[in-house]
Amino acid sequence: MSSQRGNVARTRPQRHQNAGAFRNDKYGASAQCKKINAKLHDGVCQHCKDVLEWRVKFSKYKPLTKPKKCVKCLQKTVKDSYHIVCRPCASKLDVCAKCGKGEEIVIPIDKGSEQTENAADENDQRQRSRKHQLEEGADEPDFDIFLDDVEDDDDDPDVFKEKFKNMKIERSLKS
Ligand SMILES: [Zn+2]
Ligand SMILES: [Zn+2]
Repeated sequence: MSSQRGNVARTRPQRHQNAGAFRNDKYGASAQCKKINAKLHDGVCQHCKDVLEWRVKFSKYKPLTKPKKCVKCLQKTVKDSYHIVCRPCASKLDVCAKCGKGEEIVIPIDKGSEQTENAADENDQRQRSRKHQLEEGADEPDFDIFLDDVEDDDDDPDVFKEKFKNMKIERSLKS
């Protein structure tokens, strides 16, 4: 049988092939989906950029609901999903914002906008006009939009283990 397990020597092509490539907006993109599709993955290395683009493409990219702790400055300044280093630190230390390694950055962080919304630089920002701040804020991710808690990765094995354990307990209670 050609479909036999381990039989890699089959000659006919696969019977059913996708007519087109996978599209995450096939059934109409939501506002959130459009925003994610348009996102620029700057400050990360080629590998991490590929991973992020893959996540976006297959609707596996989950926006952050609240800023996460930066592994360098230990402040809650990380505003991009899956990043471990905040933008100011990544640009200062010249490391990838996602893996934290000194890899070559594909799209360097725009130094002009990196300090936007940074509480530590509030004194500097006071000198800028309010209109200017609002304009800059336009390309920052808006955390208030995403209200559901989507921060947890659903492919986390621990979560599954925990769910399974609860299921078992439920079953033993019933019997
Ligand atoms: Zn930092
Ligand atoms: Zn990286």
